[in-house]
Amino acid sequence: MKASPQAQLKLLELAELDTELSRLDHRRRTLPENAEFEAAQQRDSELRDELATLEATGSDLSRDQAKAERDVDQVRTRIERDRARLDAGQVSSPKELENLQSEIVSLERRQGDLEEVVLEVMEKLEETTRRRDTLSAEQTVLEGRLADIGTRRDAAFAEIDEQAGKARDSRAGIAADVPDDLLGLYDRLRAQHTVGAAVLRNGRCEGCHLSLNTVDLGRIRAAPPDEVLRCEECRRILIRAELGA
Ligand SMILES: [Zn+2]
Repeated sequence: MKASPQAQLKLLELAELDTELSRLDHRRRTLPENAEFEAAQQRDSELRDELATLEATGSDLSRDQAKAERDVDQVRTRIERDRARLDAGQVSSPKELENLQSEIVSLERRQGDLEEVVLEVMEKLEETTRRRDTLSAEQTVLEGRLADIGTRRDAAFAEIDEQAGKARDSRAGIAADVPDDLLGLYDRLRAQHTVGAAVLRNGRCEGCHLSLNTVDLGRIRAAPPDEVLRCEECRRILIRAELGA
């Protein structure tokens, strides 16, 4: 392939811009804010799940508490009714009196047991509420952090995108001055190497950083300036530094 030294030198400008674009792309993908944001989002989703579970547990416990309190009320009402009958002297038969008194004793025991249940449920409910409050507070802080990380990340993205936009504009302007066949070759090589051209300086390819052997160097020295050369090692287009001199 033949191309004017000017066109070949344009490839070095393209290579520089492509290096810059790949650096920017790498920076965009590896911003610390990306990992921070992901970790915060992960925690946020854990919190949401746990809070939803606690919410459900809390409403179950509230229902349990209400039911246990109703049970206590029922037993208490029966005890009061029995006592009222006793106090009113309505019961005269000793057998019936004994039954009523023993019923009161067993109802009181039942009331004690049920009050125990109410207390247990209330304790569980308090514990659930405490845990929910703790997690809610953590979630509030986390929402703020997420917003903050998002803002920092978006600012970094905007800066990177602006630089990339400028680099792409410059690249388009330079690429317009490169003949199609040379640009086509460069772009194919770029797909493999990120940059498709490298400078040959002091007998060394600055793409793969390998020194060329004497035979290759002799062949290159003998080649006319418009000959498009390739590095024998990395296959990049090799631009002789002296072309720009
Ligand atoms: Zn090379």
